[in-house]
Amino acid sequence: MPRRIGMLGGTFDPVHIGHLRGALEVAELLGLDELRLTPSARPPHRELPSVSARDRLAMVRCAVAGVAPLTVDDRELARDKPSYTLDTLESMRTGMDPDDQLFLLLGWDAFCSLPAWHRWEQLLEHCHIVVLQRPDADSEPPEALRNLLAARAVSDPLALPGPGGNITFVWQTPLSVSATQIRQLLADGRSVRFLVPDAVLAYIEAHGLYRAPKTDGAP
Ligand code: ATP
Repeated sequence: MPRRIGMLGGTFDPVHIGHLRGALEVAELLGLDELRLTPSARPPHRELPSVSARDRLAMVRCAVAGVAPLTVDDRELARDKPSYTLDTLESMRTGMDPDDQLFLLLGWDAFCSLPAWHRWEQLLEHCHIVVLQRPDADSEPPEALRNLLAARAVSDPLALPGPGGNITFVWQTPLSVSATQIRQLLADGRSVRFLVPDAVLAYIEAHGLYRAPKTDGAP
């Protein structure tokens, strides 16, 4: 039987319930054998995250411990260059059988930014793309993606044929939490309890992450 492997990339600065709930729902819906959360060491399209890749990876590990089929993939941290998704998919493919199915999960915002990605036209040579839809998303994709969608979109996520090459959309429980909001709450000295798993909160507190530096002259 071909395996069904998913990948969800992100900065995870920090990982939160929006990522985790979305990942779990898609893994169950698609019947994935494994869904690899893959922290980006050096995201090409945004500023370097405020917290080290090692801490972001550790938080993802805390979040998915014991939550099959979610796993953590640290291969982007081992690479000494920008974390291009195409390179990650090529690397994952080398460890898989040719018939295995690979699913790249993208939020709607990430999907719409695809035309700015490194060699983005080649992504579908390695995987299917599963777009996580939210009710608040724009209904129209950018012009550059229209032809691709016309040629490659499959309406039933369970009917994606073969190892890769198609695009599908899945609805997920809307949780409009973002890492930006969490960083801001923490910088303001507010609680993020229930927005991140307890184990992630414990890690943040133990390592003093995201807190604004003291300005009152206290040591
Ligand atoms: P930031 O606020 O720092 O931009 P973020 O919360 O959007 O971060 P990322 O690590 O950039 O998190 O996101 C990784 C992936 O998870 C992206 O594909 C993104 O669309 C998706 N994602 C982020 N937040 C949610 C959410 N609340 N629900 C579902 N998917 C999400």
